[in-house]
Amino acid sequence: RRGLTLLVQVIPYGDDQKLVISRDISQLEKLETMRRDFVANVSHELRTPLTVVSGFLETLMDGWDDFSREDIAHFLKLAHDQSTRMQRLIEDLLTLSALETGAPAPAEERVEVAGLLREVHQQVDLLSGGRHEVTLHLDGDGVLLGSRKELHSAFANLGSNAVRYTPAGGKVRLCWRCDANGGEFSVEDTGIGIAAEHIPRLTERFYRVDRGRSRETGGTGLGLAIVKHILGRHQGELHVDSTPGVGSRFSVRFPPTRLASSDKP
Ligand code: ADP
Repeated sequence: RRGLTLLVQVIPYGDDQKLVISRDISQLEKLETMRRDFVANVSHELRTPLTVVSGFLETLMDGWDDFSREDIAHFLKLAHDQSTRMQRLIEDLLTLSALETGAPAPAEERVEVAGLLREVHQQVDLLSGGRHEVTLHLDGDGVLLGSRKELHSAFANLGSNAVRYTPAGGKVRLCWRCDANGGEFSVEDTGIGIAAEHIPRLTERFYRVDRGRSRETGGTGLGLAIVKHILGRHQGELHVDSTPGVGSRFSVRFPPTRLASSDKP
């Protein structure tokens, strides 16, 4: 079988008898490769902004008197942007590792979806800064059982991606529908879209279709990995439909068992 790695041990016993033990370690090897790739990715992501910051500081130290106040202000602003980027990356890494390792299952809070989505809508609108038409559509209220903080983070992440990958003048629609079959949250945008071959890999850590664009808009490449973990803990299923140049639709379906009716305590 391709990609199969066996660990074979030969143990002699008796006069000329041998015991052969073979173990399939392909899975272990795969995990080890993933771990190594992850460490390499993190190091690379941190090294790039750090190089910029230390480069600016060195330039300033060497030629403090050669620069005008405006030049210095400009350098400091660029260095500050890079350190904010590192901070964001570390925050996302900590969130991801808390979700992955032994974090408690989401608290079974009763999360009133309409209220939560009004907050998310405000936040996404603020991020857009008036460059997009951001709307909220609520069809049926509903209460989700889970962690409010985590659900807020997952929904806001999908909303902010829609704004970040949609050119000015575009539309972003946040929708919630809920009936006896469950609930669905979706975010539609009229943005750059995603080619089909990238879609299955979007929730991998550090996977980006266009690294430059992700960086420009303050991305860490970890957003959808965090979303996937949060949704997994809430039995939410993520679907992505997208057409390059037309737009994307990210939707999350929750089963009826994750919903409580809003009038019941
Ligand atoms: P990033 O910080 O790079 O945005 P994410 O994990 O949130 O990382 O998303 C991974 C990649 O998926 C992005 O780099 C981008 O290429 C693509 N992507 C996510 N959301 C959208 C969207 N609404 N429209 C187009 N591309 C998107």
